[in-house]
Amino acid sequence: MSHAPIPELVADKAHRGPRIAHAKGHDIIACEICGFKHVLPLPDPQILAREYAENYYAEEKPNFIAHAGEDQDWFALAQNDRLDAFERFLGKERRRLLDIGCGPGFLLKTAIARGWDAHGVEPSRQAAAHAHALGAKVTRGLFDAHSAAELGRFDVVNLTNMLEHVPDPITILTLARDLLDPGGVLAVGVPNDFSPLQIAAQNAAGLDDWWVAPPHHLNYFDFESLSALLVRLGLKPVERMTSFPMEAFLMMGDHYVGDAALGRACHNKRKNFDFALEAAGLKGLRREFYGALAKLGLGREAVVLAVKP
Ligand SMILES: [Zn+2]
Repeated sequence: MSHAPIPELVADKAHRGPRIAHAKGHDIIACEICGFKHVLPLPDPQILAREYAENYYAEEKPNFIAHAGEDQDWFALAQNDRLDAFERFLGKERRRLLDIGCGPGFLLKTAIARGWDAHGVEPSRQAAAHAHALGAKVTRGLFDAHSAAELGRFDVVNLTNMLEHVPDPITILTLARDLLDPGGVLAVGVPNDFSPLQIAAQNAAGLDDWWVAPPHHLNYFDFESLSALLVRLGLKPVERMTSFPMEAFLMMGDHYVGDAALGRACHNKRKNFDFALEAAGLKGLRREFYGALAKLGLGREAVVLAVKP
């Protein structure tokens, strides 16, 4: 990875902006047209589609489904936080959820247990089969104009760790918005990248920008760029949420980048942090703590809930 002292302007027909990073042969630009950071040139969508259908969970994330099962007690804290927020905005009667890129289906399972009518879309054969086995309705395949037309209407459309992977996030969000009835909620969670604590951790640990991960991560958002995009699509952002700022471990001397065992150990520590608050009856404080971090632009994820007028 290298940083040019004076950012070089990179452009094609649809995108232009200064190059802010370079990794694995890919330029990352702060795109002035899109309003967020992304890889340029963008990869061929058909090659990506094959990759996510057959290889992603098998080759890139071979332990993901097993770890997600181990972590589900902890994931359930954030899933219930999010479902509580949906129910606050929607009232009691509106319970139709679509989870685009539902992965192994754990959010759907938590939602069904709370009385939601939950439907997932997932390209990965392995992950879609897992979600189906948990009792969820799953459409296996890519979310695009063709599949969107078959899905019906929803009160919530959720996208967690999906938007960073796709070559045209604006099209995906537009299709997602159009499946919502008025007053419905679009919930988008992405990695919070190029964040102030990542920059501090990068300096403290003497690391490159380790979060830059093409070709799987094509887009790099933060709270501001994600909110601005939702506003541009006619939605009204109403809430920000996040999770523990993992880069704090690097700042404190745990150099987990490239060390999977230490990374897992740090992950377990942040789980313990959340469980300790929960066990002490401080659920509300945990939510407010992460809400306050999110207001500062901090935390590992940028999650924005936006209402369709
Ligand atoms: Zn662009």
